[in-house]
Amino acid sequence: MFPNVKGDMACFPWRVFWIIQALVDVTLSQETYAPHSIRIEGDLTLGGLFPVHARGVSGEPCGDIKKENGIHRLEAMLYALDQINSDDELLPNITLGARVLDTCSRDTYALEQSLTFVQALIQKDTSDVRCTNGEPPVFVKPEKVVGVIGASASSVSIMVANILRLFQIPQISYASTAPELSDDRRYDFFSRVVPPDSFQAQAMVDIVKLMGWNYVSTVASEGSYGEKGVEAFMQISREAGGICIAQSLKIPHDHKQADFDKIIRQLLDTSLARAVIIFAYDEDIRGILNASKRADQVGHFLWIGSDSWGAKNSTIQGLEDAAIGAVTILPKRATVEGFDNYFTSRTLENNRRNVWFAEFWEENFNCKLMSSSKKEDTSRKCTVFGLFNRGPGLRHQAPPPSTLQQPQDIICSRGYDLGWAEGQERIGIDSYYEQEGKVQFVIDAVYAMAHALHNMQKDLCPDQSGVCGEMEHAGGKKLLKYIRSVSFNGSTGTSVTFNRNGDAPGRYNLFQYQMNINSTPRYKVIGEWAETLKLHINEMQWPNGEMKIPISVCSLPCKTGQRKKIVKGMPCCWHCEPCDGYQYQFDETSCKLCAYNMRPNANHTGCQPIPIVKLEWHSPWAIIPVFLAMLGIIATTFVMATFIRYNDTPIVRASGRELSYVLLTGIFLCYIITFVMIAMPDIAVCSFRRIFLGLGMCISYAALLTKTNRIYRIFEEGKKSVTPPKLISPTSQLAITSSLISVQLLGVLIWFGVDPPNTIIDYDEQKTINPDKARGVLKCDITDLQIICSLGYSILLMVTCTIYAIKTRGVPENFNEAKPIGFTMYTTCIVWLAFIPIFFGTAQSAEKLYIQTTTLTISMNLSASVALGMLYMPKVYVIIFHPELNVQKRKRSFKAVATAATMTSRLSHKPSDRPNGEAKTELCENVDPNSLAAKKKYVSYNDLVI
Ligand code: GLU
Repeated sequence: MFPNVKGDMACFPWRVFWIIQALVDVTLSQETYAPHSIRIEGDLTLGGLFPVHARGVSGEPCGDIKKENGIHRLEAMLYALDQINSDDELLPNITLGARVLDTCSRDTYALEQSLTFVQALIQKDTSDVRCTNGEPPVFVKPEKVVGVIGASASSVSIMVANILRLFQIPQISYASTAPELSDDRRYDFFSRVVPPDSFQAQAMVDIVKLMGWNYVSTVASEGSYGEKGVEAFMQISREAGGICIAQSLKIPHDHKQADFDKIIRQLLDTSLARAVIIFAYDEDIRGILNASKRADQVGHFLWIGSDSWGAKNSTIQGLEDAAIGAVTILPKRATVEGFDNYFTSRTLENNRRNVWFAEFWEENFNCKLMSSSKKEDTSRKCTVFGLFNRGPGLRHQAPPPSTLQQPQDIICSRGYDLGWAEGQERIGIDSYYEQEGKVQFVIDAVYAMAHALHNMQKDLCPDQSGVCGEMEHAGGKKLLKYIRSVSFNGSTGTSVTFNRNGDAPGRYNLFQYQMNINSTPRYKVIGEWAETLKLHINEMQWPNGEMKIPISVCSLPCKTGQRKKIVKGMPCCWHCEPCDGYQYQFDETSCKLCAYNMRPNANHTGCQPIPIVKLEWHSPWAIIPVFLAMLGIIATTFVMATFIRYNDTPIVRASGRELSYVLLTGIFLCYIITFVMIAMPDIAVCSFRRIFLGLGMCISYAALLTKTNRIYRIFEEGKKSVTPPKLISPTSQLAITSSLISVQLLGVLIWFGVDPPNTIIDYDEQKTINPDKARGVLKCDITDLQIICSLGYSILLMVTCTIYAIKTRGVPENFNEAKPIGFTMYTTCIVWLAFIPIFFGTAQSAEKLYIQTTTLTISMNLSASVALGMLYMPKVYVIIFHPELNVQKRKRSFKAVATAATMTSRLSHKPSDRPNGEAKTELCENVDPNSLAAKKKYVSYNDLVI
């Protein structure tokens, strides 16, 4: 059926062919008779590759027997062959035989073994070969292997696929899932009944995402399966986004315990990445779980195991606690009932065809079949009937790589005397049995091969039963076509098909290793994946009794009002920064400033308007000035009332009634302004503020200035002549005062014209560091400068008035009000000198509005009170309490004033006599020789009434 290699030589590179020829020659020259392969006779032979043994340690190619991956799967192939051979419809009249080899889970060893499959295709020169008795040997024609079932590990399949494609032998794997085997140009004769790991990686990404994990580590066995699987996971997760790989670790081929300990230590370096994707072979998974136990980290890691973990018990035997919670993946399959019956009925007696079965038996029942058995960990004997002779012993011994086993049956060989004993033990009764997860795929793979051969036979041998000549010579290429086009319902009813790359569709079952109600751990199906993920999260259990899905994230989500500051190069890791001050959380990663009239809400997720405040009547800042103002208004009203009532009495007349009323009006306005300043700002109030702010003071100081100026002029004039100066009549004084006031009014008028009054909300004034305390201040559209300008004119009048007061300080006391005016002005100046720094010093304060309003109003109240108290209270006192003094004494002529002025001038030139420059009694005595006491009270009120 298969091409003679020599005849087809043009297809092969010479060098490769030569190497293979050399290897085969070595094989032929080294005859060993250990039962290292299973041979089942048939019309057509299928090759089988199974990891019957684990990888050996310390130079040994093979290690311990693998009960599930090895024996279960191998028996599945034998079972499938039995089924096909007994099926009258599938390959009728054709018996399928097999040559089954052990790969010892090692690619290099499997390569040597699989040369067996190509022997029949290589013509051998055996002319030199002689038996020990000198006769030429009779070679049994090596069987032609039409197709190979296997292998398990991807690295083994890749290695074997390379050689099988040279000889055009189709291969169907039941477990190799590495993505690179999908490359139909490099592995064109390779097909598989399991999906490639690109699907598995996608399923893992979907699980990780559904669990809300974004920070995971990966662990891979060195080689195509682990490394390429993790690579696929990383690529898909990168494309999907939102998953970061904390660590990507590799388990070396030749590992030691320390390697696993180191891996666990490294995983713990990023302990927040609790989820660990593990694409590793059984032994490596055991190593990792063991190391996690040694590190006392049972329950810390959330394992996501690939198909090689699947639902295998052997992988986690003795490490159950460390595996609790692990989520594992297995290509979608179902238990093949028929196989269970077949396998559990296998005994040493009825399963002689399986050369490794005795070894399995010992391992499975933990007993020794004979004392020379190599099983060391027990001395218990298996139950045996009768005697048997097993030659070199039951334990499998692999030949060293250089002495390849000879699977050919050579007639002259020393017969291997196998005497099988029947054990009383029964699989599934005396030992735990659960069908291995890939048994279904082994059966499906064998059936796929059988169906392909069946279809091929029907096509090539239409009128013949059995293998016809055309089929014999059809070649592997043709068979491959038939394999790729099969479509049938597999052992569990699911359809078996291959895509153009020879892959099966991606369908998976998802398991979780859980404790059941009886506290016995087991794998529980928790969902499935077929393009999309279906996971029953409520059926999942987590290690350490955690009730909620454990987290595996680099950083916890930020609290509301905090932004993520992503760590460079790690989109899943971030620091949380609060959006503080006037910032609010704009989106996940940024804060923004609220608008000028807004402040952030309590959790900084948005902005809200800043509350608006104004000076309230009940505020302590308002109460004090209002109280003072009220007192002042009462006092002023009282003084006014008194003056009006006693309008024609000498004291009132002598105090210059007209200007007194003007001055009292100014004082009154100074008090009134307090209310205007505190009232809620609106356009009317703001207009009043503009008008009255400076007006009260302006009126007061205009009147006082007029008075002091008049006194000054009179005395100055008095020094020079006896004629009175001009403009000293009440009318003139009123005119002067009015013209002074009109300047202020004109200014205000211009101000109104240039900048009409308005209210504003000042958000800067109370923009406190703590936005909770921020306030918008409702106020009139009057700047500090405008206030000062408005008051400036009055201050100018006040200063001028003070200068005149100083100049007239030497005027005799009894010359009218020069002295009290002087005191009034000094005090007022002090008040306003104190006002200026307070007013401007608090410009930056959050309490500015209150402080400034209060100081301004208090200053006004004080200066008004000083004027009222100093100038009018004594008069009112005399008017009310000493009416006997409120009588016309005499009128002083200007001449008398002039004399007094001259005297004053003279005296004032003797400062040594009167250090403060005051002329007192002498002058009084001059002008009024009557009693001094009477003069003090009387004269001063009657002076200068002209
Ligand atoms: N899928 C694995 C691989 O490709 C083998 C898993 C198994 O043998 O169960 O190497």
